[in-house]
Amino acid sequence: MSFPIQENLHEILSKIPACVKLVAISKTKSPEIIMEAYKAGQRVFGESKAQEMLPKYEALPKDIEWHMVGHLQSNKVKYIAPFVSLIHSVDSLKLLTTINKEAIKNKRLISCLLQIHIAEESTKFGLSYEECCDLLASESFKNMGNIVISGLMGMATFTDDKKQVEQEFMTLKNIFHDIKEKYFLDNDFFKEISMGMSDDYQVGIEQGSTMVRIGSAIFGYR
Ligand SMILES: *Cc1c(COP(=O)(O)O)cnc(C)c1O
Repeated sequence: MSFPIQENLHEILSKIPACVKLVAISKTKSPEIIMEAYKAGQRVFGESKAQEMLPKYEALPKDIEWHMVGHLQSNKVKYIAPFVSLIHSVDSLKLLTTINKEAIKNKRLISCLLQIHIAEESTKFGLSYEECCDLLASESFKNMGNIVISGLMGMATFTDDKKQVEQEFMTLKNIFHDIKEKYFLDNDFFKEISMGMSDDYQVGIEQGSTMVRIGSAIFGYR
């Protein structure tokens, strides 16, 4: 049985404001399935594994914008550096250093979001507020010529408690404004807050999300 991908997409698009970017999370989905969403007009797709993104990039139309949303290991950056549009999941200076090196090799600027740990679970990746400030204040970061920091990303706790999710997203929004003021006041690129997935994107949007990362509500359960 096929999942009504195009209907799902249209329904989600009708619920998000035009200024919020929809990143269709296509991890584990085949190029054929991704093409269904492409035919409906979707051009921004997100993957959580570099080794999965590369063959899809190669197989699919070149006007697709590919976003990396999952935890990225430094030794995998080389697979996606030639074409990736945005890396949402930067959670260490070491990773950012590698992304900068690969960006130089490919003669590109690579846009990145810093992932902030906002969830209660200790299993989710991300920087604390202090770690984020340390990274941005570091000499190594200031010397990275091929990185554009476009904003922050966060994942809320997996819970039915809407209030808690709301609190966590609000925390991310406050951190965003604080970091913007401290490090990016005259920088127009630092403007994205990537928050909200299939089960909580409406809460994310209420709290000021500019990008939602939606997988199962489009493609069905994995
Ligand atoms: C899988 C994934 C998503 C999408 O999750 P859904 O609940 O299927 O919408 C969003 N963000 C990240 C980082 C993911 O790994």
